[in-house]
Amino acid sequence: MDMLLSFLATIHWQDVADILLLSYILFRLYVLFRGTHVFRVIAGLVILWFFQRIAVFLGLILTSWALQGITAVATLIIIIVFRNEIRSVLQAKNLKAILWSSPIKTAHTPTEVIAESILALSRQHIGALIVFPAMENLRDFVQSGIQWNGLLSKEMIASIFWHDNPVHDGAAIIQEDRITEVGVILPLSYRNDLPSHYGTRHRAALGLAEVTGALIIVVSEETGNVVAAKDSNIIDIGTNDELIKILKDHAGVFEEEKGFFRKEKLELGIAALASLILITAVWFSFSRGLDTLMTLEIPVEYTKSDPKIEIIETSVNAVSLQLGGSSALIKSIRPEQIQVRLDLDKAVAGRNTFSITRDNITLPPGIFLKKVSPSVVEATLEVIIKKALPLQVDWVGKLPEHLILSEIKLDPEKIEIIGGNRILENISTIYTAKIPLDNLQQSGSMMINPVLNPASLKISSESKDQIIVSYVIKPRRQ
Ligand code: ATP
Ligand code: MG
Repeated sequence: MDMLLSFLATIHWQDVADILLLSYILFRLYVLFRGTHVFRVIAGLVILWFFQRIAVFLGLILTSWALQGITAVATLIIIIVFRNEIRSVLQAKNLKAILWSSPIKTAHTPTEVIAESILALSRQHIGALIVFPAMENLRDFVQSGIQWNGLLSKEMIASIFWHDNPVHDGAAIIQEDRITEVGVILPLSYRNDLPSHYGTRHRAALGLAEVTGALIIVVSEETGNVVAAKDSNIIDIGTNDELIKILKDHAGVFEEEKGFFRKEKLELGIAALASLILITAVWFSFSRGLDTLMTLEIPVEYTKSDPKIEIIETSVNAVSLQLGGSSALIKSIRPEQIQVRLDLDKAVAGRNTFSITRDNITLPPGIFLKKVSPSVVEATLEVIIKKALPLQVDWVGKLPEHLILSEIKLDPEKIEIIGGNRILENISTIYTAKIPLDNLQQSGSMMINPVLNPASLKISSESKDQIIVSYVIKPRRQ
């Protein structure tokens, strides 16, 4: 229980949003592509990917490597092979339909009218071939065809397939409540396990069903029998009810039929739940599953906005962070993605201690902090002041015995120094760099730098940073 609670405490609202958003996208993709070939192939890919994760988990290096390669290549091939189907699915819907329209389809196809027409054709032994496309465009699979675009009626169907009608050969395509094309040539099936009385009409129906998600109804001229072809299957239709059911199932229509409505709702509910479970699993495997730890040394950035405050000293320049996350994420971390920042704006002059918490650290998503060391750092701050200080030359060594230094002049004589209040309080003179006396023989001048100690001191911009030292050397009077 405790473990569950402490685990829940580590979940942020972003994580929940992450999972919900992706689950919704996955669910909408399902709604968009269900019933098409693309969907089945994508489902296969997901299963392949799932096995690959299991192989990784079990440490089957070669298998997981091979599966990973196959998944990647298969993804590419699918996009190429199914580009037309993907395009037509996307083209058939507008953005609103893709994003949030109700996934349950409403009735459009007048199923009863179609069923009655088919049975009438069957009674009169008028051969017919009727195609109800699924989501995808049939353009790439069928040939010729004459544009028709007639509103569907029993009489129109009967007259299209009437022997003497010039367009009675080939198939008619029905979309929603219209006959869109007639005289269409379908691809033939080459199966050799079909009954001998199936001629080219039946083979054409099956042929299209094998390559698309369409439903094709055949009325035999010879026997008057009605068969339906879908997904590589061809089944005999005995009764009117059977025919209506198969037409409605294909159209995804619910009308008053509560049973179908319930089934549709159940299917979508399961799909939504499956999306959620799948995405949660993926999310866990990426962000939490199989935690790996890693320690990184990250420099601490001390920030302050007040220019009058100076950082004199800090106890550490870098902290070591122990980070956790899934091995995939941990492996992909680059140190520049991580920052440790300490804001010194609230600090006061003098010595301050800060503890470094999660709030001071920027981490990439999915990575969490286990430990910081040291977790407490010290920073000494000073109020910055300006102070004019007299300069003095730092002579070293000795002049030769017979010479004396009779006059020294410095230009400038004073220098303005910027530095911490407390440091400058204790400094009364600024020395120049050392000048050895041993080598001096005669009067002259030289340029020399002042020496600033500690190094945090700076020369104000108004002062020169080079000093001219002029000296007069005279022989020592005996
Ligand atoms: P039936 O039981 O009606 O005789 P069948 O399966 O025995 O059907 P055929 O007798 O060969 O088939 O029927 C020929 C008719 O099928 C053609 O007149 C034509 O209308 C239709 N047909 C044949 N091939 C195709 C095709 N590739 N695409 C569309 N229609 C076709
Ligand atoms: Mg025949």
